[in-house]
Parts: sequence; structure tokens; C-alpha cells
Amino acid sequence: MWKKLLADLQLSILMLVGGMSSFIIAAFSVYRFQNGNVKVGLLDAIITLAMVGTLLYAWRSARNAERAGRFMVLVHAAGAIASSELLGVTGAFWMYLAIVVNCFITTNLRYATGANILMLLVIAFLGHSFDSTAQQLSFLATSGLLTLFSYIIADRLSQQQLILKQQASIDPLTGALNRRRMQEEMHLAIEEFTRSQMPMAIILMDLDDFKNVNDRHGHEAGDDVLAGFADMVRGHTRQIDRFFRYGGEEFLMLAKGLSPEEAQHLAEKIRSQAESVLTGKHGRVTVSAGVAGAQTGESCMQWVARADAALYVAKQSGRNRVHLAD
Ligand code: GH3
Ligand code: MG
Ligand code: MG
Repeated sequence: MWKKLLADLQLSILMLVGGMSSFIIAAFSVYRFQNGNVKVGLLDAIITLAMVGTLLYAWRSARNAERAGRFMVLVHAAGAIASSELLGVTGAFWMYLAIVVNCFITTNLRYATGANILMLLVIAFLGHSFDSTAQQLSFLATSGLLTLFSYIIADRLSQQQLILKQQASIDPLTGALNRRRMQEEMHLAIEEFTRSQMPMAIILMDLDDFKNVNDRHGHEAGDDVLAGFADMVRGHTRQIDRFFRYGGEEFLMLAKGLSPEEAQHLAEKIRSQAESVLTGKHGRVTVSAGVAGAQTGESCMQWVARADAALYVAKQSGRNRVHLAD
């Protein structure tokens, strides 16, 4: 259970917020019934049931969390409106909680803010919760500001989360995607290949005699070559190609929609371009590549192993060449 919650931030927020709120609202429901306020007791019971139902739905599948979050926003809005109608100002207090929580239980911040604005306008202008205009104006100002601040904070958090996610999957030296991301995307690509049989190939590239570049010209010059190579490859990739740093001076390109022969042609273009572009104070640097097309029933590791074997043949045959796996 903890593993599932830790892996999915949105689900964990929804569970935490929904779980605690439904527990407290259930307690209020009991309290209202005990005091003879059947209407409000019933309302609280309905809100609790709607929340618990939504949480169960979200728990069933990771894909449900977003839909559940959006539905929960509506439950909060409807609950806050109804409780302010039945309890007056006392009930309207619940809306402050709903405003903040709504911004964090769905990734669609515009949807949450739209619901928040609608909720506060209905309570302020269509409801009958306030005794005076001063009270109504104070409510409008405080709830309006809270809606704005919640939006700004949630928006900044989601932007930072996006940046962190990007940083966690990019190799800083070359700008290529890192190995962890490669594993994720290769697994997805195999699933897609099994489903659609769209041709796919990988090109495993390894800079030749790279140790010599470092030994002769220093590690910094070696770094420049790696970054230059990655830039050059990116110039040859289409939007759908994925380019990863496999390790040290090895890179992998996942080319969707390309047959092995087409990928071999692309690898050959990269090889010849590297030969003419990667020259400078560090001398001439070349690249060898192994190409392997996707095959049915093969695991990610088996696929890469075939490209690696092809790369080995390219190295053995004298480097600065491309070899296509059998
Ligand atoms: P081969 O043609 O057989 O691939 O020979 P090679 O010298 O390229 O292969 P080897 O595996 O012997 O050496 C790889 C070198 O790549 C050794 C390592 O110092 C260097 N290297 C790996 N990562 C980096 C890096 O991030 N920066 C620099 N400058 N060098 C790196
Ligand atoms: Mg190597
Ligand atoms: Mg090498």
C-alpha cells in the first residue's frame, strides 16, 4: 500500500485529503444527528459516502486518480454550497478548506480554479448565508484572495515538479536522456511494437578509441567531444526519435517507425557526419554503431544485447563503421 502511495503523488494527496476529510465529516454527521439536525446530518452522510466512493474508485487503478480528483472537486463545491445554505456562515467556513484542497487533487488547475470561483460566487450572491453586506464583502475578499493564492502556489509547485522530473531524466553533459529514462521508454516501445507491429530499431553508438582522446587531450576535451557528438546527433533526429546516453561514451537511439535497414541508413549518416564534424584540437574522432530492429517476444535486454553484438562486430572489423544485427 505504501509503495503505491509513494509512487503516485496525486493519488497520495487525494487519499490523504479525502481520507481525513471524510473521517471528520462523518463525525460531524453523527454529531448533527445526535443534536436532532437531520437535514445537515444527512448532507454530511451523503458527502462522506461520495468521498469514500471516489477514493475507492481512485484506488482501483492509477488511471482513475485524475478522474476521481476532478469528481472530488465537484463534491467539495457542492458540499460547501449546501452546507453554507443549511448552516449559514458556520457552513461557509468549509469553503476555505475546499478552495485550497481543490487546487491539489487534480492536475487541471484551471478546472479546480473555475470550480472554486463558481462556488464562492454562488455562496456570496445566490446563497442566504450572510447577515450583512459587510459580512458578504469580507467573505468575497478573503475567499477571492485565497482562490488566487492557492492557484499561484499550486501552479508554481507543478512547474517545479515538471522541472525536477525533466532534470531527473536528462544527462547534464550531453543533454541526452539518461539510462533510467531509456529503460522506461524501451519498455513502452516494446509494448507498442507488440500491439501495433510498427517497425522500430535501436542504434547503439560508441565513440572509437575515446580513451586516447582523454589521455592525449584531457578529460575536458573529452567532455567537449561528447557534448558536440550529442548536438550533432540531435541535428539528425526526427521528433519521434529518442536519444539516450547509454553510459560513458556510448549512446542509444530509439527510432520508431524505421525498419532495420532504414535505421542502418540513419546510423551511416551519423557515422559519416561524425567523421567530418568531430575534428579539432582533439584530432579526428569517429563512431561505430550496431543496429537492431525490434523482434516479437524479445525483452528490452535481449534487444540491446543484439545491438551490442552488432556494435562489437563493427569494432572488430576496424571501427568507424555500422553493422546491422542478424
Ligand atoms: P573502443 O573504440 O573500443 O570503444 O575504445 P574506447 O577507448 O573508446 O573504449 P574504452 O571503453 O576503453 O574507453 C572509454 C573511455 O571513455 C574511458 C573513459 O574515461 C571515457 N569516458 C567515459 N565517460 C566519459 C565522460 O563523461 N567524459 C570523458 N571525458 N570521458 C569519458
Ligand atoms: Mg564503450
Ligand atoms: Mg569507445
